[in-house]
Amino acid sequence: DKRVKTDIEIAQESSLLPIKDIAKSIGLSENDIDYYGKYKAKITYEKIHSLQNESDGRLILVTSINPTPAGEGKSTVTVGLGDALNQLGKKTLIALREPSLGPTMGMKGGATGGGYAQVLPMEDINLHFTGDLHAITTANNALAALLDNHIHQGNLLKIDQRRIVWKRALDLNDRALRQIVIGLGGPSQGVPREDGFDITVASEIMAVLCLSSSIDDLKLRLSKMVVGYNIAKEPVTVGDLGVEGALTLLLKDALKPNLVQTIEHSPALVHGGPFANIAHGCNSIMATKTALKLADYVVTEAGFGADLGAEKFLDIKSRAANIKPDAVVIVATIRALKMHGGVPKTELQKENLDALKLGLENLQKHIETIQQYGLPIVVAINRFTTDTKDEIAVLTEWCQQRSVPVALTEVWGKGGKGGIELGQLVLQEIEKNNKTFEYLYDLQLPIKEKIKTIVQKVYGGTDVEFSSKAEKQLIEFEKFGWGNLPVCMAKTQYSLSDDPSKLGCPKNFTIHVRELKPKLGAGFIVALTGDVMTMPGLPKKPAAYQMDVDANGRAMGLF
Ligand code: ADP
Repeated sequence: DKRVKTDIEIAQESSLLPIKDIAKSIGLSENDIDYYGKYKAKITYEKIHSLQNESDGRLILVTSINPTPAGEGKSTVTVGLGDALNQLGKKTLIALREPSLGPTMGMKGGATGGGYAQVLPMEDINLHFTGDLHAITTANNALAALLDNHIHQGNLLKIDQRRIVWKRALDLNDRALRQIVIGLGGPSQGVPREDGFDITVASEIMAVLCLSSSIDDLKLRLSKMVVGYNIAKEPVTVGDLGVEGALTLLLKDALKPNLVQTIEHSPALVHGGPFANIAHGCNSIMATKTALKLADYVVTEAGFGADLGAEKFLDIKSRAANIKPDAVVIVATIRALKMHGGVPKTELQKENLDALKLGLENLQKHIETIQQYGLPIVVAINRFTTDTKDEIAVLTEWCQQRSVPVALTEVWGKGGKGGIELGQLVLQEIEKNNKTFEYLYDLQLPIKEKIKTIVQKVYGGTDVEFSSKAEKQLIEFEKFGWGNLPVCMAKTQYSLSDDPSKLGCPKNFTIHVRELKPKLGAGFIVALTGDVMTMPGLPKKPAAYQMDVDANGRAMGLF
């Protein structure tokens, strides 16, 4: 059989160890875990608390160039690097985000790595897993229902129903729900108002869950979330409604990190899953910090390119968790670099050295971005079977000329064995690192200046244009005392600019901020740029059309 096996075929041919054996490999007893079937578990709060005084391992952050619509293989490389470091005898844990059903049914298929570098059971992780996303959806919508009920029952808080910012949520791509009207049908059906749905991974509750460091912190953050404004135009919070206890209760198990294994039985914590384009794009602080206590090395991933996920990891998550990476891996693929050099998606299979050389300016920009933070870098060339020898040579030499460590990475085809060189380079860079990590911007800067700093230093743009709505919000937000929060940019993942068609390294562009959103529970201000949507739509041919299941419940077509 010469046909290349699909991810799900490889996953289903793999044998899994009982999850208690995986737990044991990182020093967790059966008492320290709650079972979710044979191959999934959550780590208990008691165990997490008991680890507080342990020292932290080293943290490796995996990011990438601006991706093609199929992704660049960051999750694949993250898993493969974790397997490789374990093969090299280093006690390593992988910390990934959990997938959302929106892209799984839509554009991408699964998000559990690929080829021989996957976390298992991939069907479960890609579908309902341990129910975390359902819990977040439920908490989000419980709040919406409680809010509408408050207005219906007399509206003691004098909430202006035209100024509600809390939306409903669903973990699917459903463009028809972006803007809706609720409460129609007369007085007994509630108070009519405009509403809308966001995808669950863009819900503030997802961000709050990922940025919380304990149940108490979760409750405090939930209570600070702004749901809307009263008729005096002052913010109304969850704390004002008095429902943070109920929301925290709904999330009490969702906050615990999920333990699974890779094809090679490396331990992996898969927990929390905000997108990096419309949210902050990082797995949970609970998982990352627990992983750092349990292992000597932790490999984690932030979503999309270094302009989105990595920037937010470094300026939002690192601050909230008081952690910093010890090294950054930038994943690049020859096919995406050729796309940045002008090759259309349909021609990416063919060798094209000129386009590749042109496209390298995208990689260059991301390398410079990470260097600004004072972090060591290794470039991982995620090898595809269509890459030619000459193309690989061009990319390798380009890196070497710039003294950027580079490793050809074949974890998709070979598992951890294909990531040994990458693993060794990363270990070397960590050992010889003498740089000092610095955040990109100071929190004391006005919101406008923070956005401008990100645009100029990370995107390479010249200026920022604020809509009149955003200008008004800036004044209000500073007045409410929210000016010292970090900014979470919502921007297309395909381009460094806010125009998805501008590939490569666009220059002299302006970023358009159309609206700001206060996310006080998460502890950041979202800036929506360009046309980016917080409820995605399905593509012409959704991945769902390939999916099926047999009489024994065996999944098919999840990529
Ligand atoms: P990202 O994390 O960057 O979004 P993923 O790791 O999820 O990307 O990979 C996206 C898809 O590409 C997956 O279906 C995966 O199997 C596939 N893929 C990744 N690396 C390779 C490779 N080297 N060759 C072939 N397919 C790959």
